[in-house]
Amino acid sequence: MAIDLTREQRLELWQKLTPLQQETLQQFKKYRMQSIFLTENFLKDEEWLFVDFKENPLYPHGEEGKLFCRCGRELKYQFTLVSEKTGETLQLGSTHFAQHLGVTPQIAQQVQSGIHQLDRGVDLILLRVEKELRFPKRYYNLFINRGLKKQCSTAFLTRLAAFAKADLPLYEEDSQELIERLKKSGFKIDTIGPPAPSTSTDNALKNLISLIQRYEVGEIVPNDELLTSLNVSPKDLTRWLGLLESPKFPVQLKEVNTNHYRIR
Ligand SMILES: [Zn+2]
Repeated sequence: MAIDLTREQRLELWQKLTPLQQETLQQFKKYRMQSIFLTENFLKDEEWLFVDFKENPLYPHGEEGKLFCRCGRELKYQFTLVSEKTGETLQLGSTHFAQHLGVTPQIAQQVQSGIHQLDRGVDLILLRVEKELRFPKRYYNLFINRGLKKQCSTAFLTRLAAFAKADLPLYEEDSQELIERLKKSGFKIDTIGPPAPSTSTDNALKNLISLIQRYEVGEIVPNDELLTSLNVSPKDLTRWLGLLESPKFPVQLKEVNTNHYRIR
């Protein structure tokens, strides 16, 4: 999927978020950066310890919240490191890691690609918000009601709770984990009682619409479950889901990254 946003697009979408949504995304980006540093052990054998990560989403515009490297260059991302020996604090940009710390260029590059991945994760969320997608409340409630929390990591649960509060669509991985957990617990849309499969196109489309009405606006519509319930070919299903992107039906879908979401 070619979804890398330009700096301008990213900034424009970012400014449409509520302050709580912005704060939530920044918070989790920071956690992720921290965990990349911990698990990759970038600073192994060095005296420096990673302690903080800041981002200026307005860079290179805006007057407030500017960040700088120790060399004076303005930054989008700033890393704070502390010396275990002397307690000295060092604030750096990712490209100057190599120069200022004497770490290898490979490590500096790994940090860069870590940042790139984090940006892509957030870009996907920004694109979903733009399509008016929200937090998957119904799945989350089912997840809680089915007692699935106890199987999950604290980090995952913390993200779900925070994204619920900010009404943000989930990271792709979290969305998949949520759906997988529900499926493993035996959740299927046909447990609610699907309409009888039909051979006539007209009725099958009607059945599809009534199945989709069981999902909340903003929720993902899982293809495999629809296929099981409807007894149609994947090709037909894809065509009908495409049809439902038009506003002339009682429900409306939107395709985002090969998934269909209910938007009305
Ligand atoms: Zn520098």
